[in-house]
Amino acid sequence: MNGAAIAALSKAGVAVEVVEETGSTNADLLARAARLNAPLLLVAREQTAGRGRAGRSWLSSSEGSLTFSLAWFFEGGLPRLTGLPLAIGVALAETLEGLGVQVGLKWPNDVLRDGDKLAGILIETQAAPGGALWAVIGIGLNLVIPDELEARIGRSVASLPWLARMDREALLAALLDGLAGALREFERAGFPAFAARWNRRHAWQGETVMILDGGAVLHEGSAAGVDDAGRLLLDTSEGRIAVLAGDVSLRVKGA
Ligand code: ATP
Repeated sequence: MNGAAIAALSKAGVAVEVVEETGSTNADLLARAARLNAPLLLVAREQTAGRGRAGRSWLSSSEGSLTFSLAWFFEGGLPRLTGLPLAIGVALAETLEGLGVQVGLKWPNDVLRDGDKLAGILIETQAAPGGALWAVIGIGLNLVIPDELEARIGRSVASLPWLARMDREALLAALLDGLAGALREFERAGFPAFAARWNRRHAWQGETVMILDGGAVLHEGSAAGVDDAGRLLLDTSEGRIAVLAGDVSLRVKGA
């Protein structure tokens, strides 16, 4: 796998680097953000300390997973990023659909296939001068997951054996094109341009779900999609509420 080849196959106009092995592509790009002057895609053949939200880990294998991060510059501060993880989910879903794979989205930041997690998205930020910031968008995508890795993850996960047969450079170029296109649209129009597209793919629409915070149930209700700020709408016994992502987790009740 070669960065220049991926960049040449892509139409995004984004530089691409490939490293053999690293701890976390997100950590690497965050450490380099102050020195970047253009978007950069960093792909690791093997990621040994992949991160999820709130210190959770993302596990992968060099043969069966894609692990990469895209650094993207945003004028304006954090409020500009409202809904970005969900917009990235839409971008991944639309790109995979273009390759013949239907997926669902789970609030706030997971891509599901047949109910199991296929990809994780972790966005971290680094302040830049003048109130601007770098968003580092990390993605782990399962292509083939060996039983041993699934056992270590400790839950059933989804994979894409069909796409695993596709040339990796072409697959990464397609993902980069989808992400860069979505990011440019997000810069112009924000999450409202993505809300209906997210809701069309909402995997848990109408399910009775619980919002958990560190194991405690904060809310329970019927999942009714997201609003234009990317908040999850829940129809509870006290009426409709809108939940901010923060560090809460979502579970189907009784699952
Ligand atoms: P949750 O899925 O528990 O609600 P989350 O969506 O915030 O939490 P992330 O932080 O995005 O989860 O991802 C980390 C979690 O994903 C880990 O705690 C683990 O359960 C799961 N995980 C780790 N590696 C993989 C993988 N390769 N495929 C699918 N799931 C994984």
